[in-house]
Amino acid sequence: VTRQIKDLRTPIICVMGHVDHGKTSMLDKIRGTTVTDIEAGEITQHIGATEVPLYTIESLCKGVLPGNIEVPGLLFIDTPGHHAFTTLRSRGGALSDLAVLVIDIIDGFQPQTDEALKILKQYKTPFIIAANKIDRIPGWRVNPSFSFTKTFESQPDNVKNALDNRIYDLAGKLSAYGFSADRYDRIRDFTRTIGIVPISARTGEGIPDLLMVLVGLAQKFLEKNLKLHVTGPGVGTVLEVKEDKGLGYSIDTIIYDGEIRTGDTIVIGGKEKPIVTKVRALLKPMPNRELRIVEKFDHVDRVTASAGVKILASDLDKAMAGSHLRVAREGMLNALIKEIESEIERAKIVTDETGIIVKADTIGSLEAIVSELRSLKIPIAQAEVGDISKKDIIEAETINDPLHRVVLGFNVKLLPDAKEHMLESDVRIFNRNVIYRLIDDYADWEETQKK
Ligand code: GDP
Ligand code: MG
Repeated sequence: VTRQIKDLRTPIICVMGHVDHGKTSMLDKIRGTTVTDIEAGEITQHIGATEVPLYTIESLCKGVLPGNIEVPGLLFIDTPGHHAFTTLRSRGGALSDLAVLVIDIIDGFQPQTDEALKILKQYKTPFIIAANKIDRIPGWRVNPSFSFTKTFESQPDNVKNALDNRIYDLAGKLSAYGFSADRYDRIRDFTRTIGIVPISARTGEGIPDLLMVLVGLAQKFLEKNLKLHVTGPGVGTVLEVKEDKGLGYSIDTIIYDGEIRTGDTIVIGGKEKPIVTKVRALLKPMPNRELRIVEKFDHVDRVTASAGVKILASDLDKAMAGSHLRVAREGMLNALIKEIESEIERAKIVTDETGIIVKADTIGSLEAIVSELRSLKIPIAQAEVGDISKKDIIEAETINDPLHRVVLGFNVKLLPDAKEHMLESDVRIFNRNVIYRLIDDYADWEETQKK
């Protein structure tokens, strides 16, 4: 491969779709691992980043890739529902350049499919549809890993018709949003018509076509968008703050613009104030491995956008997941501190006078839970990123309504002093690692208390 053009940024591709429609399975198929097996409740709750280099795409596409591809690969972000898409913001708008909306072809449009479309329309993000689970169409003949066009040819006529009818259905639903859509192999201009790529994340059928369309779209998009080039000091988003044995505190980040080097001074959002620190080490996951599950890292001197990278530095214990990260080169520091300060201010979630207390691990998950509670008209007294402490329980005890004398925790620890205090308190604590379950369990409990 002799297409190494150094200053091209890897496009970020957000994978969206209704729960269980196959987002994680699709990425698993692409990278050949099984992240699904280890996920809490089988639902993706954390944002993962998967870098798929061009050579992987080439080998999967078995020679059908056009020869003029210059993008270095694709960076996929697997999101829990649509929330992360809106939380993972860049300076200009959405963080992702392109999106794949996964729709179960048997199950069809579902509430999160609608929500995802609304968001994509609002952010004007180019996208394609992965019509997943074609192997579940009655009578489907499986040809593992075949391209869609090849496997389609080998199907009996009634199966071909059944598939096409379902695709017409999807296209019809999309037209209600003002999008014209068609099966991808019938489209000439992908900037006018949304491509629907039939795939099976289970059998691998259609995966080559999906990657081919994505790379082609990224390439087109890149020709028009200068922002796809790597320039200047790095800008990124903090996905997760972690404490690892032997490593101390580190942050998992997505760098979406520019470059970051070891020794760079960075400014990131902290729980109270901006954190200014020096990059001690940059750890890149091996290609095709997901940032959050990887054990083995490459130590690197510099990372260019777009990439998922783990950063080691001091003072990261108070770093706030979901906040921005900026590399400060000469003369920039004060302005960047001001910028991050105002971001922290904006991230404070305005809450009601009385209500429940919510603690979560990231700004993104906190926002997701708060918006869910708001839609259920459940009042919130306090919503914060952080573990459940004794202070939270004491705060909850002051709430008059016993139905709201509650602390909801998402992916957080119950600190020892809180555990102790709980024994002599009537405050209920719900601590879960699946958002839907957390809210359902609380709502169920509230129902039984009312009786
Ligand atoms: P996500 O919630 O969108 O990430 O969905 P998952 O990837 O976790 O998949 C949900 C369920 O659908 C799992 O049980 C998968 O094994 C199953 N599944 C995903 N893709 C396919 C497919 O192409 N065919 C079939 N038959 N099952 C699939
Ligand atoms: Mg998933």
